[in-house]
Parts: sequence; C-alpha cells; structure tokens
Amino acid sequence: MKTSNAGGAVIDQPKLRQAVKPALDKTPASKPAAKQSKIYIDGKFYSEADAKVSVFDHGLLYGDGIFEGIRFYNGRVFRLEEHLERLWDSARSICLHVPMSQRAMGEALLETIRQNNLRNGYIRLIVTRGVGNLGLNPELCKTPSVIIITAQIALYPEPVYKNGLSLVTCATRRTNPSALNPAVKSLNYLNNVMARIEANQANADEGLMLNDEGNVAECTADNVFIIKRGQIFTPPITAGALRGITRSVVFEIAAETGIKVIEADITRHDVFVADEAFLTGTAAEIIPLVKADGRPIGTGKPGPITARMISRFREITRETGTPIYS
Ligand code: PMP
Repeated sequence: MKTSNAGGAVIDQPKLRQAVKPALDKTPASKPAAKQSKIYIDGKFYSEADAKVSVFDHGLLYGDGIFEGIRFYNGRVFRLEEHLERLWDSARSICLHVPMSQRAMGEALLETIRQNNLRNGYIRLIVTRGVGNLGLNPELCKTPSVIIITAQIALYPEPVYKNGLSLVTCATRRTNPSALNPAVKSLNYLNNVMARIEANQANADEGLMLNDEGNVAECTADNVFIIKRGQIFTPPITAGALRGITRSVVFEIAAETGIKVIEADITRHDVFVADEAFLTGTAAEIIPLVKADGRPIGTGKPGPITARMISRFREITRETGTPIYS
C-alpha cells in the first residue's frame, strides 16, 4: 500500500471590508418579481439576466479556466482560506494570472454574499482565461475574468444522509495526471460529466471513477473514503483525486477522535468488502455510501463511524468560518 500524509491548513479569518460597487440593475420593470441573485463579474454586480460573458472567452471555448465551490453556513464562509489557496494552486498550474490578490478575492466573495443578503448557501467562484480569438493560444487572452455566483443549494435531501447513496463504477477513467491533472480544479469537467452520464444511465446516485491502474480515484464530484476494521482509507491525491477541502476536514475529525486515516491505493474489491463508506464534497458534505455496483456495503446502512463523522462535521461547519457580516 502506498501511503502519504495530508495536512489541513489553518484558517485565518481576515476582516476584509471594501466597497464593491453594484452595476446598474438594468432588469426591466416588467420582469417577474422572483428573487434574482446578484452576480459579481470583474468588480461589478449584475442581475441574473445581465450577467453575461463573451462568446470569445476561452472559459467557454476551451474550458480554459478554474473554479471553486464554497459553502457558507450560519453567516460564515467555511474554509475560505483553503479554497482560495487551492484556486491559486490551480491558477499557477495552468499559468493563469489571477487579476487580483487573494485578499481582494476574499473580500469580493464576502461582498457578493452580502449583496445577496444570505447567511447559508453555496458560492461558485470562477476565473476564466478571458477573451481571446477562436485559436486556443492563451497568450492572446489579455485579461482573465472573475465571476462569483451565489446559490441556495442542498445537493441531496436529508433522508439521503440517513439512508445513504448508491454508486456504480464508471467505464470512463479519471484523466491521467500526465494528461490533465485532476488536482487542478479546471473548468474542463467533461471527464466527470461523461462519468456522471454513466451513473445516470445506471440509475445510481454517484459514479466511481478509477484511474489508469484500475484503482479508485474519486467520484464524479466527491472524494471517496472506506472504513475497514476501524481504520479509514482514502485514495492518495496521486491516484487522481482532487485535494478536497472536505476530505481534509475528515482527516482533522479522525485525528480528534483517534481514528487512523490511511491514504492508500484502493480497489473496487476494497469498496465491496468495506464495513462502511462515505463520500465528501463541499456540496454533498459527508454522505454515507451504502451500495456499490449492486453490492450492499457493510450492513447496507450507514455505519457508526460515518454517522459520527457527519455529526462532528455539522458542528464544525456551524461553529467556524470567516464572518460575512461582522
Ligand atoms: N473531487 C471532485 C472531482 C470534485 O469536483 C469535488 C468538489 N469540489 C471534490 C472531489 C470534493 O472537493 P471539496 O471537498 O473541496 O469540495
């Protein structure tokens, strides 16, 4: 088994406040009165109808850009610093110069939530390569665009957290890191989308993606954990997994509770014979996995370690984070 350590970064909670001016709201008065969100694009706020990017933006033409999905709970942004760090890592990896500092990005994000008057929700933070021509050369894209969208989402209904998810193994392999490293959270998610289509066609809740060696990499939008004889296992980042922020919280909770997390190559067989399993992701949070390729995992019901993980995770999300309205 190949093992390595994952470290969780410490959250700094910066008190950043700086005016970001809303763009003129050009929504016609005749539009339906449904509550529309305000969307940040390059320093201004737009209504949903007016939030537009160029058809020449390479984010659209080539999936050339990066993103983060971030949650905020109870008036605080969860793990803001870690998400910004990962965004910057993605940017460096694809030679994209983010046109603002991490601090200014953090403030723009907080201001977007304030503009939308939300205390709980999800944020999509996007940096595109910007406008170029129809050729793919990124050097011709002079200014990357920054887009921030808020949403009120709950990915899975509450009963799923009690009853668990099913998954199928997808024929689509996770991108080989030497072709496009899955550690880069890029706008090009077609690899994951292809796997998601397979999961949909099989009527499963999620799709398990293997790497070129046939080991488990991750799911289409979540990291994977299995539990065997009281120990927790998860694939290493080198297996083709995103360095999930929720994944790192699981490492922290496990350390608190004295359970060992081992980063190791995992096969489908290991998933089939696990005592318990769960998935992690910003949108999904920690969610039990109870069936894989038609086989019940453990008792076929969420296990006790998973339940403890979920309840501690909920405490942490309620109690920590960067204040939005202080
Ligand atoms: N893997 C993939 C492919 C994802 O898209 C996500 C969601 N961002 C994750 C794992 C989980 O990462 P995180 O906990 O940071 O949301």
